[in-house]
Amino acid sequence: MSCPLCEAGGSAGPLKEYRSHSILYELFHCRSCGLMFWTPPQFPEEGFYDALDFGVYQLAHGLGNRGLGGHQVSFKRHYNAKKGKLLDIGCSDGAFLVWAQDQGFDVYGIDIDTEGVERARKITDNVWPMRLDQFVCYARRRDFRFDVITMFDVLEHQPQPRQFLSDALTLLSSDGWITGTVPNRERLFKTGRTPREFCGDFPPHHFLWFDEGALKKAVGFLGLVDVRVQDQMHGYWIEETLHQLGKPFKRRFTGSATSDPLPLERLQEAGIELRQRTVRFLYGLRGLKNILKLLPKAFEAAIEITFRKGGSLYFQARSPAQPPTADRAGEGPGKHVGKFVKPAAEGSRPGNWESKLS
Ligand SMILES: [Zn+2]
Repeated sequence: MSCPLCEAGGSAGPLKEYRSHSILYELFHCRSCGLMFWTPPQFPEEGFYDALDFGVYQLAHGLGNRGLGGHQVSFKRHYNAKKGKLLDIGCSDGAFLVWAQDQGFDVYGIDIDTEGVERARKITDNVWPMRLDQFVCYARRRDFRFDVITMFDVLEHQPQPRQFLSDALTLLSSDGWITGTVPNRERLFKTGRTPREFCGDFPPHHFLWFDEGALKKAVGFLGLVDVRVQDQMHGYWIEETLHQLGKPFKRRFTGSATSDPLPLERLQEAGIELRQRTVRFLYGLRGLKNILKLLPKAFEAAIEITFRKGGSLYFQARSPAQPPTADRAGEGPGKHVGKFVKPAAEGSRPGNWESKLS
């Protein structure tokens, strides 16, 4: 069985079988790059994704709350290269685009979820309900190039990852960055690992299971430089904690309670007078509830830090800056990257990220 990413033959397996929509999928492990992949790389029928209930999907991915998802917090923490045109592949309702726009990025997005794209239109007109391959044709006609392309929890869905990554790279400007996340198959808390629990980590949703090494190689094959892959959840919960704890205080001091008002505020709106002491007590209770809600997260994070097995893997890599040459000029955007190259030997991989980005 040949690997859909490095194309090496002789993968080990099948390690597991899983039947969905009358297709029998089998899991293989590439001995060359370490990727685990499900085969056949096939969706049950045309329009499979159109028929999905994306409300459920968004819930599973923690989207739809207009805040940054945990997987996007890594980008906030680690990516501080130049601003510019940003394309978010799988932008959903645009929660990340809102944040990116606030940071000064010129934001663009695509998603196959038409409903999500409709909502994202409120943020920018530059969002399209398209697959990446469709968007590549569209973008070529308009000579779009992007300084950063993000794909949060998108790559693992791709049955043809080589084509997908190559397509993405054709849209990248010279010296542009590509970043994203995938679930970590070595994660300590393997929720969703059995189909009975939640089928989201299985085909036809997820075709690829990465660990740190496999993801590093996948990104490295593309000839990108400054490759960094790290498992995630170390520390992003701290930001989430502060965010949660800050909410009641923010409401109290700024008077902003436009969304999700506390029952307390609804009582006040209804004209029910409360004594100051009661108000303080109720706010305190709310704060305590938030702390209690975060304890399991803190516990999980502490264990993850100890064992270094976070829930997701974050990656980012830069396209090598190359001066455009005459014969390249006619080839279209970013033609010099996007070709798969043989993986570099372990010691020769460029990794001077710390000095450049942090
Ligand atoms: Zn492989």
